Amino acid sequence: MKKNEEKLTGQVNCLTPLCSIIILAIASFSAISIYYYLSQLHREAIVSDATNEGGLVIKLSQGFVRAYSDFEAQYASGKLPNPAIFRRHALQLTDLNSLFGGSLFSEVVGFPGKAIRLEPTDDLMHEQLLMLQTDQVKSMKTTIFTRNGDTILRSIWPFYATDNTCINCHNKVLGLMGSEQWKIGDLMGAQVVEKNIQQALKKSHNETLFVSFLVFLTVIAVIYCLIFVRHQILLTKQLKTLANTDPMTGCMNRREMYNKIDKIQGNVTGAILILDIDKFKKVNDNYGHAAGDAVIQSVAKCIKSVTRETDWTARIGGEEFLIWLHHASQQQAEKIAENIREQIELVVIEFEEKTIQCTASIGLYAFEDASPEQFTTWFSTADTLLYKAKSKGRNNVVS
Ligand code: GH3
Ligand code: MG
Ligand code: MG
Repeated sequence: MKKNEEKLTGQVNCLTPLCSIIILAIASFSAISIYYYLSQLHREAIVSDATNEGGLVIKLSQGFVRAYSDFEAQYASGKLPNPAIFRRHALQLTDLNSLFGGSLFSEVVGFPGKAIRLEPTDDLMHEQLLMLQTDQVKSMKTTIFTRNGDTILRSIWPFYATDNTCINCHNKVLGLMGSEQWKIGDLMGAQVVEKNIQQALKKSHNETLFVSFLVFLTVIAVIYCLIFVRHQILLTKQLKTLANTDPMTGCMNRREMYNKIDKIQGNVTGAILILDIDKFKKVNDNYGHAAGDAVIQSVAKCIKSVTRETDWTARIGGEEFLIWLHHASQQQAEKIAENIREQIELVVIEFEEKTIQCTASIGLYAFEDASPEQFTTWFSTADTLLYKAKSKGRNNVVS
């Protein structure tokens, strides 16, 4: 019994320190994975949004320039101010820097005479503009960098000379002569659009941190729930086994025997044997109660080794067993009963340096296509036959 109790707690107790560490590790791994995944996803979305906004700014300013492409004529007619401040006016008119809540900074730089003319705001921009000149990159370039602790996304859009109207005007306005003049295909300038994405990143970081923490708690809760459910299932299963099993021999007990009989549907053919160890009191008297227990266990083992998979054994009393021989004819049952008796007789039990041998008497009752409701009658008949076997001198089978 004690052994079984130990087994019960041993199987059920899975909340060991190691188990808790593993659960924490799984929860942390899940939370960190979610954090990195969402951070990446949000960052990509923020960068993509900022890049799209940059593109919109370029389109607006380009649209403005196109609208004033007959700029010289408009200037001559007094519709436009001094060309030197045209660029600033262009930006002021489209009010680009205030379009996106003041988070955008837009600047146009030019490359007259193959050198950067307008002063870049920082060394990195200068470097990037030079790279545009050497790489002949025809599309937008995006960079992310930190300035005064803020994360900035900068898009640089190169402008190439595509038609003569544009070239002529630029050459004239800047007073370029000879080899300094623009040609088709030359990189004439670039528009730099910057967006401070620090706030957006910080917000996303806080949200992601919160979601990751929720994931951490959820994973722990789910695992603990699963462990609890498993614990309950195991406990129920083990309690059922304990309630139905004889702890000393592992055979079913009387209650389970009647359950088993009740579950039988329709008529059955087979036999029941009632086996009682002979002169068992003497074993107890001569070798002690513990030795008696060892004998009972050995007999149960012996019965199990002789019977078939479909048969079952119940311990119905101290040293008494009922053996159900499924689908066995009287002849087969007698053969099995005789086999059991012989094997028990041959068993030598070694207990505390002593050897013990025993015999058993068996009462056998066979039935054919009979209703299990008759079980009580079969039982008492087999018991009477066992009594006969005892009175005939023991160590025999009576059917
Ligand atoms: P018989 O051949 O007529 O069956 O003789 P017997 O001595 O076996 O007679 P009886 O059936 O009256 O004795 C059974 C004894 O088994 C009585 C009881 O002390 C003992 N016993 C019952 N349960 C246990 C048990 O779990 N362990 C041990 N060691 N002895 C038990
Ligand atoms: Mg008895
Ligand atoms: Mg007995």
